[in-house]
Amino acid sequence: MPKAPSETEKQMQSRARRILAKLKKEFPDARTELEFADPFQLLIVTILAAQSTDVTVNKVTPGLFRKYPSPEAFARARPATLEREVHSTGFFRMKARAIIEASRDLMERFDGEVPADMDSLTSLRGVGRKTANVILSSAFGRPGIIVDTHVRRCSQRLGLSRNKDPDKIEIDLQRLIPRKDWSDFSHTLVLHGRYVCTARKPRCPECQLQDLCPTSRENAGA
Ligand code: SF4
Repeated sequence: MPKAPSETEKQMQSRARRILAKLKKEFPDARTELEFADPFQLLIVTILAAQSTDVTVNKVTPGLFRKYPSPEAFARARPATLEREVHSTGFFRMKARAIIEASRDLMERFDGEVPADMDSLTSLRGVGRKTANVILSSAFGRPGIIVDTHVRRCSQRLGLSRNKDPDKIEIDLQRLIPRKDWSDFSHTLVLHGRYVCTARKPRCPECQLQDLCPTSRENAGA
């Protein structure tokens, strides 16, 4: 993991805000590329998107939502059938179970409505903080830092967190980024990780964040 130059908390906050400003310029319309019509559909597509691509999920969900138009319909789905239907997104057994269990929880405890707060969302079976933050930010317009694989990797390379655990990275980023910008920061950093700071071969020479990134300096031998 890269070592950020020794910085005070204030200096790190200032650097994080300059990173945010550049990311917003680079990706002015950043938002999730997953397609959904309401908070419940977003819950389902987010479960399906784990370890998959948005493109793959967007191919599966139109047919799925025609067949299962509500939490009630998913709650009654046969696991083996749903597994087949979501097979192409990977981890299909786990995802089918998570969808059915979360839908049953919604029916039993929330009248079939997706709740709009972190505690209630994470009380649903199969829903962790990442999924909850996606729903809060993209369905309800509330601030949320989404630590997916791109945000995790980029935060470490940018020296904004030394943690590996997504929940701890989320706390580190919450301290550095103003609350109102949490969602923008997540969405832009996801795209930065997807297209520039890629897992295998980060494109440092053409990266807008080069002068703010300790990994770039390490790569340059500085
Ligand atoms: S300079 Fe390189 S390592 Fe740093 S954010 Fe850009 S692409 Fe990633």
